Amino acid sequence: MKGEFLNKHKFSVLVITLAFSAILGLATFTGLDYYKTAKDIRAKEQETADKLAAAQQKAWAEKAALRKKVLKDYNSTIIVINKKHCFEPKTWQPNDLAPIEKGISLRKEAAAQYNAMKAAATQAKMPLASTSGYRSYNDQVETYNYWVKHSNQKEADSASARPGCSEHQTGLAVDLKADNCVLQCFATTPTYKWLAEHAAEYGFIQRYPDNAKNITGYVVESWHWRYVGRETAQDMKKREIKTLEEYFNVTGGDYSN
Ligand SMILES: [Zn+2]
Repeated sequence: MKGEFLNKHKFSVLVITLAFSAILGLATFTGLDYYKTAKDIRAKEQETADKLAAAQQKAWAEKAALRKKVLKDYNSTIIVINKKHCFEPKTWQPNDLAPIEKGISLRKEAAAQYNAMKAAATQAKMPLASTSGYRSYNDQVETYNYWVKHSNQKEADSASARPGCSEHQTGLAVDLKADNCVLQCFATTPTYKWLAEHAAEYGFIQRYPDNAKNITGYVVESWHWRYVGRETAQDMKKREIKTLEEYFNVTGGDYSN
């Protein structure tokens, strides 16, 4: 009897021990597994956060580089010059001018695209020529002073850009004519209509559209076209954004003082 009791007792102890071990083992295993899963999730979260931060940093860097190209890099084809953003130093000049017509030059890339555009216009039987291209700081001093002398500063400001603030100083702006039809007359020509349709293919935009004086600082100028590169010109056309100020989110309008 005694032996039987002992055996039974031993057996119970064994069963309890086994059961306890099993529970402990399971708990440990589950706990470990839970710990491992939580660690994985944390690592994944960290990875996602790192990726987001890197993407954000890249976006900021790209935005800063674009701002620089638009506002500070006068050699870029997307530089914005207006009455709020003048050249600094005011006497800046390009170093890659190329002649397009007698006495008229544009920067090399703009000149090549102007020539291609003119050839296409000619093929479409649209007369097209330029009346003005690159103008230096000193040219602009002369023009502006002429207007000040013959009227007053307010009149001069509406007729001509202040020296150092003219887009013609970029070497990327060109004034156009069709035969002898210049200035306001140009808007009435088939050539103007043709340009509105095709100039973007050559990277040109009409820089001062109608009803945008509070944005560009200038009343409509159908004759004044600006080279910005094909990508920008075509994207602006596609998205129906009429001014560089709106496209690049740059301040414009009148002079600050
Ligand atoms: Zn002009």
